[in-house]
Amino acid sequence: MSAPRLQMEHVCCHFEGREVVCGIDLTVRAGEVLCLLGPSGCGKSTTLRMIAGIERPSRGIIRADGEVLSDATTHLPPEARGIGLIFQDFALFPHLSVAQNIAFGLRGTAAQNRARVDELLERVDLQGYGDTAPHMLSGGEQQRVALARALAPRPRIMLMDEPFSGLDNRLRDGIRDETLALLKEEGTAVVLVTHEPEEAMRMADQIALMRDGGVVQTGAPYNIYTSPCDKDAAAFFSDIN
Ligand code: ADP
Ligand code: MG
Repeated sequence: MSAPRLQMEHVCCHFEGREVVCGIDLTVRAGEVLCLLGPSGCGKSTTLRMIAGIERPSRGIIRADGEVLSDATTHLPPEARGIGLIFQDFALFPHLSVAQNIAFGLRGTAAQNRARVDELLERVDLQGYGDTAPHMLSGGEQQRVALARALAPRPRIMLMDEPFSGLDNRLRDGIRDETLALLKEEGTAVVLVTHEPEEAMRMADQIALMRDGGVVQTGAPYNIYTSPCDKDAAAFFSDIN
């Protein structure tokens, strides 16, 4: 079998001598969605930032397709990792058009970039909006532009930190489902951070339940829901009907 798209082995992170995340072992395959689920402060964003290369692990190994991204001697910078990021703040560049925003990270020829931008505008259902300024679009449309921008360089891994929590409920389900469907189609491995069990149950192929800087349980949503590892895990899911 091919190497997993993303693999973390016993990864830890220290801040000022304090271990805030430790012993993270995770595997994500191409086209799979892994949800990091847990209460505020448990270390979800720190874990994501280590995968992105923004924080350096104090221990452990992070690999993508078998290639070492971080270990004791190696630490590839974020831009060399082939990893895309979508955070809650979807900030687009206000002085650039929609098409220029999407093309921002592309390194091809002008013609190649234009073709990729057109393809993505169609995918996110914004054909004809390439020359529009971002502020002319609704919040949901701007978010679709940000998604297209993150997808444009064909990242092998997409990291998403609570990207849907700023949207109102009416928009959220649609955008969430569309986004994940698009990423799956592209064969991207997704790590989605959320503190909402319902979101994880709906979106994840695998859930990693986090607490106090560690992963306490990993498994398919149904398995974790029906067989939580302890009382706290059960309580965390108890609000879902
Ligand atoms: P989550 O995303 O699950 O809410 P975080 O990963 O943001 O949790 O934070 C985990 C812990 O690490 C928290 O106790 C937080 O205060 C601490 N932490 C995060 N970033 C830093 C930092 N840059 N310096 C010091 N402590 C930090
Ligand atoms: Mg966070």
